Amino acid sequence: MHIIHVASELAPIAKAGGLGDVVYGLSKELAKQGHQVEIIIPKYDCIDFSLVKNLKVEFRELWSYDGPYRFNNTIWSGNVDGLKVILIEPHHPDYFFSRGMIYGCSDDINRFAYFSRAVMEYLFKSGKHPDALHVHDWPTALIPVLYREMYMALGYRLGKTVLTIHNMEHQGRCTAAQLSRIGLRGDSYVTPGTMQDPVYDTLINLMKGGIEFADQITTVSPNYEKEILTEAGGFKLEDVLVKHKKKLKGILNGIDETFWNPLTDHYIAHKYDTHGVDTKEKLAMVLEGKKENRRFLRSHLQLQDSNRPLVAVVSRLVPQKGPELIKHALTHSIEKGAQFILLGSTPMVEIHLEFEELQKKYKDDPNVVILMDKDEALAHLIYASADMFVIPSIFEPCGLTQLISLRYGTVPIVRSTGGLADTVFDIETSSKPMKERNGFSFDFPDAEGVDLAIDRALHCFQHEPKQWHMLMQNGMKKDYSWKRAGLEYLEIYKPIKEIPVKSKPSRKSLIPS
Ligand code: ADP
Repeated sequence: MHIIHVASELAPIAKAGGLGDVVYGLSKELAKQGHQVEIIIPKYDCIDFSLVKNLKVEFRELWSYDGPYRFNNTIWSGNVDGLKVILIEPHHPDYFFSRGMIYGCSDDINRFAYFSRAVMEYLFKSGKHPDALHVHDWPTALIPVLYREMYMALGYRLGKTVLTIHNMEHQGRCTAAQLSRIGLRGDSYVTPGTMQDPVYDTLINLMKGGIEFADQITTVSPNYEKEILTEAGGFKLEDVLVKHKKKLKGILNGIDETFWNPLTDHYIAHKYDTHGVDTKEKLAMVLEGKKENRRFLRSHLQLQDSNRPLVAVVSRLVPQKGPELIKHALTHSIEKGAQFILLGSTPMVEIHLEFEELQKKYKDDPNVVILMDKDEALAHLIYASADMFVIPSIFEPCGLTQLISLRYGTVPIVRSTGGLADTVFDIETSSKPMKERNGFSFDFPDAEGVDLAIDRALHCFQHEPKQWHMLMQNGMKKDYSWKRAGLEYLEIYKPIKEIPVKSKPSRKSLIPS
């Protein structure tokens, strides 16, 4: 099959969060299974170009549209870890992708709407007809709309359009005039059956456009699929999703097994092998490997070298992730005699200031490190070193950090929501068999829930080593690779089966012979 992903992120060259990991991991799996995969992203100036091999100009001239104006774009191609990547560089006076960032500009809608139209022009002009054109979240959700409403009329055809919803909270709202800028008649899409926003009825909602116009919709875990069909998780698009329920499927994300593998991870100080970890000897080697990494991390971050359990958080600090509960987890863990490392970054000034306050409060505490940064290498080292990892999310479509933690033998403590509920099974309360239980969870996102889960985890760590090791082993044994999800996506990409139309009996046959 020929599959083209169009996205706003691609790990590791342009990653803001899990979306970038998913596009990378899924593409690698599909390529491994022998499919032809291409990924189209904007040519951001903040791309790590050292990771793009064989970068060259594919088309020097590709004209696209913004209102009544035409702008040229340079189309680049390159190779990231064996994956073919197409980068679109607009020559537009607004320098859409030369802002040193992926998201966070006041004109984000215009940036990604322009990109979406340029992608369709590129596909049309280059004569590519993929079996599946796979788009991700609101930044590229306009593509199925453009395909159906503009490019099909021009005679262009591809197999299927697929929209993956990574996060329902962000939907891309704009005015009809903004939609008109890319060549659609904005006014005519402010209707309930097309792109009218369910809350602000004069506005356009790009995610809704993707839901209405894509051939298939997926989301990133089976539990999140259920949640977004309800008022509590649908962010007002639940009715539209219910209407299109037949084309919606939740597919649990995987993690890339080479990028996230403690045996080969070049970011960590001491490699360790988690395969066949059922035996005592193998477990002892894992424990030793983690201990060595912990020692290195402690000295690197000037944490006290001690036997205290090491509790960690690596997260974007945004309301979805429960920043108040993260702060609470930190203070509570410290009170209970643990050490705590927080690696977090946030685009929100008030949250940044709050965590800076916390940083000041604990600056002389040898058992706390708070780093307000985005640091891939340090994140890997934390997964490899920590004993436990806290994720108190308010909602979590899939969550990758719990999967990475499990892979690295770090026991997750999570709020049971979205994909966290699909992947973390509490040692006491889960209905899963004991051999699948791998962590601690709590139901309500409040301080009490966090406290109780952390207390149970610390108790188990300190007083029930056998149980603790069982949790670690259960986590490490499970396959979180993209293999299973890759196969599920291939089912989604398959052509829609034509239902044979029963031919009407001809008049002749009605005449008795
Ligand atoms: P989301 O996409 O909502 O941010 P996920 O759990 O799906 O959450 O994915 C988060 C990804 O981003 C993981 O790969 C995690 O390691 C990484 N990450 C989050 N915060 C940081 C940070 N401050 N530094 C480095 N990596 C981070």
